[in-house]
Amino acid sequence: MPETTDRPAPRRSASRRPAPRRREDHAGGAGSLLDDPERHPLRPGGAVCELGRVVVLAPHPDDESLGCGGLLALLADAGRPAHVVVVTDGTKSHDSPTWPPSRLRTLRETEAQQAVGHLGHERRVEFLRHPDCGLPAEGTPAFEAAADRLQALLADLRPDTLVVPWRRDPHCDHVATWALARARRDPAVRWLEYPVWAWTDADAAPLAHEAAAWRLDVSSVLDRKRRAVAAHRSQTTHLIDDDPNGFVLRPDVLAHFERPWELFLDPTE
Ligand SMILES: [Zn+2]
Repeated sequence: MPETTDRPAPRRSASRRPAPRRREDHAGGAGSLLDDPERHPLRPGGAVCELGRVVVLAPHPDDESLGCGGLLALLADAGRPAHVVVVTDGTKSHDSPTWPPSRLRTLRETEAQQAVGHLGHERRVEFLRHPDCGLPAEGTPAFEAAADRLQALLADLRPDTLVVPWRRDPHCDHVATWALARARRDPAVRWLEYPVWAWTDADAAPLAHEAAAWRLDVSSVLDRKRRAVAAHRSQTTHLIDDDPNGFVLRPDVLAHFERPWELFLDPTE
């Protein structure tokens, strides 16, 4: 369990998201499971049937589609139930006079509902509405309360497999989402992690001693995954045009999530 001080500080600018860094700028990628990812085993889409009931934890509206959109679509095709739990309200993506936080929250929740609908799981999104970049720190009463709340929701959803962000994914909300789930982990539930921002930051990539990586063939549902990602119009277009520093998913970032496979991690520690 990481110390609270290990958590990246909330970054006010850009969602706000970490500024993607070019992998070649870093020497820290030795042993990275995200380097040359096509060496990892490729499992057919039908492998999702082994996961049973699935719950995906998304720190923000859009992470479910970016990291797990193919997984979710394959589950729908197989007639398997899945739910998405969106942990924060996503309202730090823009600082816009015309889209104040309450309006932006509604927009982002609508986009998430549409995205998950494209993936075949209509009305299966839960919103915890924690403040974007404001999840409570471990060791605080607020953290314990948030972990209890998540645990209660998961008790209702009864997953066989819980899919959470990679534990060192370089955004404070991604790390905190992992910590909240980990705090009440049910050892009977299978646990998978997925990278989002780690694709853009070699220093945050999982290492070979930390996890076993495998790929899921999502080629048969890639069009629906693309539609799901595009449903997050506030993040993929300039729909909100009065914040010059507003967040937008750049093409070079989106390219990581347009591949015909998704990568998942079975932690080994
Ligand atoms: Zn996110």
